[in-house]
Amino acid sequence: MPETKALSEPQKALVKMGLGRDIDLALHLPLRYEDETRIVKLGDCREGDTAQIEATVTESHVAFRPRRQLVVTVNDGSDTCQLRFFSFYPSQQKALAVGTRLRIRGELKGGFIGWQMVHPTYKAAGGELPQALTPVYSTVAALPQAYLRKAVQSGLARADLSETLPPDVPPAPARATTWTLQRSLRFLHHPTPDVSLAALEDHSHPAWQRLKAEELLAQQLSQLESRREHELLRAAPLQARPGGFQEQLLAALPFQLTAAQRRVGEEIAQGLARTTPMNRLLQGDVGSGKTVVAALAAAIAIDAGRQCALMAPTEILAEQHFRKLIGWLEPLLAPRGQRVAWLTGSQRKKERAEMLELVASGEAALVIGTHAVIQEQVQFHRLGLAVIDEQHRFGVAQRLALRGKTAGEGNEPHLLMMSATPIPRTLAMSYYADLDVSTIDELPPGRTPIVTKVISDSRRDEVIERIRAQVASGRQVYWVCPLIEESESLDLTNATATHLALSEALPGVLVGLLHSRMPQPEKKAVMSLFTGGQMGVLVATTVIEVGVDVPNASLMVIEHAERFGLSQLHQLRGRVGRGAAASACVLLYSAGDNGRLGETARARLKAMAETNDGFEIARRDLEIRGPGEFLGARQSGAPLLRFADLVLDAALLEWAKDVAPHMLDRHPELARKHVNRWLGGKSEYLKA
Ligand code: ADP
Ligand code: MG
Repeated sequence: MPETKALSEPQKALVKMGLGRDIDLALHLPLRYEDETRIVKLGDCREGDTAQIEATVTESHVAFRPRRQLVVTVNDGSDTCQLRFFSFYPSQQKALAVGTRLRIRGELKGGFIGWQMVHPTYKAAGGELPQALTPVYSTVAALPQAYLRKAVQSGLARADLSETLPPDVPPAPARATTWTLQRSLRFLHHPTPDVSLAALEDHSHPAWQRLKAEELLAQQLSQLESRREHELLRAAPLQARPGGFQEQLLAALPFQLTAAQRRVGEEIAQGLARTTPMNRLLQGDVGSGKTVVAALAAAIAIDAGRQCALMAPTEILAEQHFRKLIGWLEPLLAPRGQRVAWLTGSQRKKERAEMLELVASGEAALVIGTHAVIQEQVQFHRLGLAVIDEQHRFGVAQRLALRGKTAGEGNEPHLLMMSATPIPRTLAMSYYADLDVSTIDELPPGRTPIVTKVISDSRRDEVIERIRAQVASGRQVYWVCPLIEESESLDLTNATATHLALSEALPGVLVGLLHSRMPQPEKKAVMSLFTGGQMGVLVATTVIEVGVDVPNASLMVIEHAERFGLSQLHQLRGRVGRGAAASACVLLYSAGDNGRLGETARARLKAMAETNDGFEIARRDLEIRGPGEFLGARQSGAPLLRFADLVLDAALLEWAKDVAPHMLDRHPELARKHVNRWLGGKSEYLKA
């Protein structure tokens, strides 16, 4: 067995942060810099300066008011300054004894009443001053700044930073290619103190431009590569037949399709008819009617003698979501002796074995379930179409697993992903180069808009009154409790307490509780009481986030709404307003200890109150969070662009788009090296 050396804690932290390779360390750029190159005089300083001084301790004592602290006075010949330490060791008291000369660094406060520094850093005076600014890197608790600095330093020294841009590519805009990568990185890790900090901070410096250009090029190369690979794949073309399943289904629907549904239906039909596998994202607001569009696509595939698989992120959703779809398709299958197979995690062994058999033999034309659908034992039979609902809730790994499962048979399935979290068009164009996007931009007629109210948690009683009135008039109510990330059990306590309080406040009303830890049969039982209308109020953690369709529910209360993301709030709100009745959404917020809401939380709640339009919500979300984080939603864990901004750096993006095909065609070795340098093992993920 090969000997594996155990990693130390900081080493483990490095790997966890994605800093395993030398090049990753070299590309981990400072968040900011500290200027330790100069000693300044207190007399020259201004309020708020972070200053490095050399001074002598003139006084030192422990004070007890307002709390215990070590107060040390120093003098640098131009002025005095008080240093305050609220936690300290006896050894520190010794090091700060009267008469000692120190080099001290900290933020200066209180110019008028005399300078002060709280918890400054200090060491003995004298010694060499560094030549360059000191980098400060983003890090985690297990990885001390000093350790990380050394690691970056040696990564930078060891990494291969040779030029990957061929000499025959045009120069990039914004002087981005005037500096080499090597020069840029050396400079950005250790800039000389004469550089404009503003140019470093707003990333307009040529060194920064070079990094952005490189990063965008890597992204474009990888996208283009994946698109070219994709074009080589073959799929069975699936053509709608006149008088076939699709037409029969259309005729049987209890409603008319909206114009938008017809349009995307046509786009999907065209994609299915091609010999290259479709890779399409169907986006449309909550309630815009994506399921029927998926059913129409499934009808084409099944009619062409192919199997169709549908996946939803949770069991409840799979059931809720596809019940209608099954109701529509089953009558078409039955005459052909075909069936629907279910695959879920909670299935009994025997049932599961039967289902697997149905799938493998092809007797099941439709396979429905959770990610159990992509597990190893599943053997598809002539799989023609895979539909992933609420695709953003699936991890990249799961999407890759689906690809892996079906790859290499010579005939890839067509892929349709659905999402209610739209991607703004500019981002979709440049970021999902290998993905086609279809958009439903209207709701079915007859919906009444949802009225959204933002209300302080202190007015909870009024909200409960409102619930009482809704239930009395025969309507139903959702009450959603937030997910507390660190602790599932806290989560539960919160939901349980609310459940109890509401049950007591609403005698005679059946109040149910639904959370992710409940056994599956219990979840189902609660859900069926609510769908059946017997249950007036459903208290839930975010398990109901997507897909649940109970048209009689007319009020949605979201507790601690300030903790939810914008798209999540919008998804939740979409659970009401599904029938003709006037619906409302109440966003209960509680302010922090200082009695105020954070700025982004306030912006989110404001956006919710102002608009019901999912695309507008997505636009605001992008504005609030920035594209880096927004695209982080592609679930790679890390935002995919660290340096460049698709909107602000549009000119560089254009350049990268031009250069990428040229590089792939004429300099494939350099292209490979470039992508590997920037994306390493992550490039697979970009394609998911
Ligand atoms: P989502 O896009 O959020 O998945 P659904 O597919 O669940 O939306 O559709 C929401 C509701 O609207 C369902 O009850 C569905 O049957 C209904 N619906 C879909 N299309 C239409 C239409 N064209 N006219 C009327 N109702 C429709
Ligand atoms: Mg849906």
